[in-house]
Amino acid sequence: MLAEPRSLRLTRREALNILGLGAAAAVLPGAASGANSPQFPKGAIIRTILKDLPPEALAGGSTLFHEHMSLAEDFMPRWMSYARATNPQSGRRGAAPPPPAPATPPQPFFMQDPELMADEMRAAAKDGVSCIVDGGHPDMGRDLEFLKELSVKSGLPIVAGCGFYTQPFYPAEIATWSEDQIAQELIRQANSQPVGVFGEIGSWDEITDNERKVFRAVGKAHVATNLPIFTHTGIPGKSAMEQLDLLEGAGVKPQRIVIGHLGNLNDPKVEVHKAICKRGAFIGFDRQGGPGDARQVPMVVALIEAGYADNLMFSSDLSSEAQTKKGGGAGYGKTLTVWVPKLRQAGVSDEILHGITVDNPRRFLAFVPKKKRKA
Ligand SMILES: [Zn+2]
Repeated sequence: MLAEPRSLRLTRREALNILGLGAAAAVLPGAASGANSPQFPKGAIIRTILKDLPPEALAGGSTLFHEHMSLAEDFMPRWMSYARATNPQSGRRGAAPPPPAPATPPQPFFMQDPELMADEMRAAAKDGVSCIVDGGHPDMGRDLEFLKELSVKSGLPIVAGCGFYTQPFYPAEIATWSEDQIAQELIRQANSQPVGVFGEIGSWDEITDNERKVFRAVGKAHVATNLPIFTHTGIPGKSAMEQLDLLEGAGVKPQRIVIGHLGNLNDPKVEVHKAICKRGAFIGFDRQGGPGDARQVPMVVALIEAGYADNLMFSSDLSSEAQTKKGGGAGYGKTLTVWVPKLRQAGVSDEILHGITVDNPRRFLAFVPKKKRKA
């Protein structure tokens, strides 16, 4: 039996047990009673690409905090070649296979095909998804207008990110700009574009001085805007603690941060994960639905048993056509249709899974804007 960390839950469970309803309560999703609904600061909103939403508007389904719906066609080929150059042994990206060779006659790249992608968004909604966060920005070839079109066509709320990705993808200016110049550019993006989060902000492998500079600048931009932050750690989860140190050092509260890709960190005792959770940050298990699941399920169970269900964030970081439904994969809903059932089978309750997939991302994404929305 898994420990239930939240005092509210224990109270409710205890109360139900007293009433003799314990067995029934075990299968009730948290939403059924609303007793455990998270509290949000006054004035907090979730900034989707079309409009600001009250966090309650996304209570009816899951929010995926790290996916990709808009990347340049050459993004993954470049990513794979840098990964091979960095570490020939581990130059694979979780379950993501390289993009398939162009078909004949040539098809449009799937992330530039609005009809195909709107179908994928509708399919995700059917799988129980309420909102998807796109982790791209200009240095990854992300197209804000394309994301808007997808949200309009499919009706699915999308949160767009902003920032700079990792050393191999930085525009040339990053090397010469000061930390303050980078922060000013990020603040400009956050205040003039319909973006709702800084992410994904990464370190490629061993963190570089330019990456440290960008992390500090993102921290400053957060202090100026309140936009939350999610990160990319290089394989296997390197620099996770330093990323948190850099952001906290710039004045960011850990509760506003997800340190990402920690399912990749091969640490069966989850010591790094626990240390990050203990400081109050979220940790991302955000590349599941593949062969890595068998290793990651016990890690997640151990973290829940240690009382850290409120710090877990799930997503799949979809990046190739083979992962879409059209391409024969499980699509954007994979986190809910492939990964979550494995946790349920391992004994995690529906109530805890509801908290992780519905409430944690809303607590993370909700912020009180410092300036009125412009775009
Ligand atoms: Zn990503």
